Amino acid sequence: MSEKILVIAETKEGEIRNVSFEAIAAAKKIKPDGEVIGLVCADDDLENLAQELIYYGADRAITVKNDNLKSYTSEAFGQAVLAVVEHESPDGIIMGHTSIGKDLSPKLASKLESGLISDAIDIEIDGDQPVFIRPIYSGKAFEKKVITSGIPFITIRPNNIAALDRDDSRSGNINNVDVDIKDLRTIVKEVVRKTSEGVDLSEAKVIVAGGRGVKSADGFKPLYELAEVLGAAVGASRGACDADYCDYSLQIGQTGKVVTPDLYIAVGISGAIQHLAGMSNSKVIVAINKDPEANIFNIADYGIVGDLFEVIPMLIEEFKKVAV
Ligand code: FAD
Repeated sequence: MSEKILVIAETKEGEIRNVSFEAIAAAKKIKPDGEVIGLVCADDDLENLAQELIYYGADRAITVKNDNLKSYTSEAFGQAVLAVVEHESPDGIIMGHTSIGKDLSPKLASKLESGLISDAIDIEIDGDQPVFIRPIYSGKAFEKKVITSGIPFITIRPNNIAALDRDDSRSGNINNVDVDIKDLRTIVKEVVRKTSEGVDLSEAKVIVAGGRGVKSADGFKPLYELAEVLGAAVGASRGACDADYCDYSLQIGQTGKVVTPDLYIAVGISGAIQHLAGMSNSKVIVAINKDPEANIFNIADYGIVGDLFEVIPMLIEEFKKVAV
């Protein structure tokens, strides 16, 4: 890949998402001597957001400010990014493999006639050629892919490529590109949140996930308490979601979210193949289950055989002692 790489940043609740900083690190890995350009599209407060991209390693940043960029739509964001691509002619484009990344990247790649590699978890350099590693068959195998034509377009899975350390002595230009976003067929009038937002599941470093063993919505309370002590996000198996113990937005697995935290604590989850598809690449897996034969123990690094309603309060007490 080339000299100039455009990183499409994403924001959440007025802040840059961590995966966008990871995308900057990925761009640096692909071309250490190249120029990394961070792009942030929003309706407000762009200067601060662009500055953060530079602190995390972008050589310069571009902002597109427009009222139509308040909430994500593929049409409005697509027009903004395409205008910047036309302006900058980058040699590569990277963004997070998030819901927005999954929606936007194929549309843009097809318009730009780019080769697209999605959900990359690592990058190797073979001579001058970046090779992207991505999981296939629900994480049971990995493939190594290269792009042979068009502007290489990559999406990276959150939590796999470490972001550079934030360094507020880094500096770089920030330029605004005016884009006339028009002829939108849909606009977002309002976003009504369904659940109160805690730590974002897909980017969480620690996840406490509950399964059918939790037995009720009330049974999730100790898991939330443990999550709070650990600064973790709460997730769930489909068993727990189907039983109405929690919202489907927490579901992890083949038909839920794919997560790669540093620590995954599976509580009362049997370890069905469809659940493992969403979490088996977690760096450290701890399973708590009263059945010593439960399949989850086959992939766990640490296992606790016991009743979760006895084990979780003990963990909360112990973690509270070491929490700062
Ligand atoms: P169970 O299998 O019922 O396991 C509950 C566990 O809790 C048991 O191991 C039990 O020993 C333990 N337990 C019970 N009481 C206690 C206690 N007091 N203390 C400690 N342990 C206790 N599943 C997903 O999770 N994600 C998906 O995305 C997903 N997609 C699917 C897609 C398809 C097409 C299909 C067919 C299935 C999918 N499933 C998915 C469902 C999956 O097959 C399992 O049914 C589901 O994961 C089981 O959830 P569970 O482990 O919570 O429940």
